[in-house]
Amino acid sequence: MGRKILVIEDEADIVTLLRHYFQQEHFDVVTASNGLDGLSQARGIHPDLIVLDLMLPGLDGLSVNRSLKKDPATSDIPVVILTAKSDETDRIIGLELGADDYIVKPFNPKELLARVKAILRRTEHEPASRPERFSSAGVELDVARHEARAGNLLLDLTAKEFSLLLALIKHSGRVLDRQMLLDLVWGDDYEGTDRTVDVHIRRLRKKLGHFQDRIQTVKQIGYKFMDREDS
Ligand code: CA
Repeated sequence: MGRKILVIEDEADIVTLLRHYFQQEHFDVVTASNGLDGLSQARGIHPDLIVLDLMLPGLDGLSVNRSLKKDPATSDIPVVILTAKSDETDRIIGLELGADDYIVKPFNPKELLARVKAILRRTEHEPASRPERFSSAGVELDVARHEARAGNLLLDLTAKEFSLLLALIKHSGRVLDRQMLLDLVWGDDYEGTDRTVDVHIRRLRKKLGHFQDRIQTVKQIGYKFMDREDS
């Protein structure tokens, strides 16, 4: 099975060029021409690597990278940043945000290809440090597929609801206060309130149906996911 590369780039010429080079090496190439589309593709197909341009219409590349790294469903995907800016600041910001490499335009496609292959070799040889499935008391999450099931029923969750459930299940049996949930799900620079968490918990419970009691309210603190079916 070919490995998938997601190219998030608005310049058609570059997309064509990259598609050509990657396909020659038997990669499956998926493309997105703006940041939002790129993010949803990344969540939907969970590619093996993302080539991300910084200057994109709408949501810029650094924001896209930030969102990718914050979302447990996409945080493990290696990102190579591609940009016309040779600005050192952007390079540093990109790498601080967890990008794996950085290439300045105009670039040699062969060099990009070599770097992509090097990253894939590295990530393939890393021990599986992140289990991609989590479950507790009959509720199961498959992070790679972005699928959640309660019993055997597939749940229709938004990205935030999925992240919230993932945070609860990863820490099941333990109480998470609302601030912690805000940090884990929305990121620590998000200006949300306790109410943001409560509203999402309410929606999540509704979607969990018979399993809604698995999420317990811990008075004056926050929420806890049951770690046993009988408790
Ligand atoms: Ca661009």
